[in-house]
Amino acid sequence: MTATLDTAAALEIRNVHKSFGTREVLRGVDLTVRPGGVVAILGPSGSGKSTLLRTINHLEQPDHGYVAVHGELIGVEARGARLHELSPRAVRRQRTRIGFVAQSFNLFPNLTARDNVAEPLIAHKRLARPAAYERATELLAKVGLGDRGDAYPRRLSGGQQQRVAIARSLALEPNLLLFDEPTSALDPELVGEVLSVIRQLADSGTTLIIVTHEIGFAREVADTVVFIDDGVIVEQGPPAQVLTAPQQPRTREFLSKVL
Ligand code: ADP
Ligand code: MG
Repeated sequence: MTATLDTAAALEIRNVHKSFGTREVLRGVDLTVRPGGVVAILGPSGSGKSTLLRTINHLEQPDHGYVAVHGELIGVEARGARLHELSPRAVRRQRTRIGFVAQSFNLFPNLTARDNVAEPLIAHKRLARPAAYERATELLAKVGLGDRGDAYPRRLSGGQQQRVAIARSLALEPNLLLFDEPTSALDPELVGEVLSVIRQLADSGTTLIIVTHEIGFAREVADTVVFIDDGVIVEQGPPAQVLTAPQQPRTREFLSKVL
């Protein structure tokens, strides 16, 4: 392999391209995230944000370029030649260290909040049920739901369900946590409680990548704001730069629509 991996980075994305059919959705994305970094990704609908997160999480394989999480390669291919391919087992192991919280809460409807959080602990960490329940209750307490362990998802508000989903994503102690528009499906009055849990995670030093349309949140919580449009990163930098004094016309145009 010719490129040198930055093993100190929590995440390194180099020249990632991804097409679906003839449509190139990611057209050469480069991004480095340091451990403990909090990155907010902004961009119009259809610009490739979810595809980028899915590539990081190995739900999509880059056609070209690579993604490395803590110096471990997730997908590599250069000029058509596959340089390195992880075994499906290694991929699974890596994926357990990457948390993913989607827009829709994706809880098991037939399981209580506690069972939802305990499930990965039992399935992946092979914890015995009592230990898994104890840990699940701790995790629920961390998202402010320590007393709702017995509730089924349908009895919880959208904001509470999303917080259970966050607790579940924390169960396997991810070293990288991805959020794809975590508050987009919520009623406005429930957005704050979910953002405050994410803010707490940011403050605790977890490495976070958050696709969001909440510009105020990005400004306050992210150390880096990335603006992506049409499959490329148009601009990235500290919030004060990208959100307050964007250099690129496309960034300015986008912000003028959402602010
Ligand atoms: P965003 O999250 O920024 O709205 P996406 O990454 O979801 O954008 O999608 C970018 C483009 O890629 C869209 O045009 C979408 O229709 C297309 N796309 C995403 N996933 C697939 C897929 N699995 N097959 C075909 N096209 C896809
Ligand atoms: Mg999306």
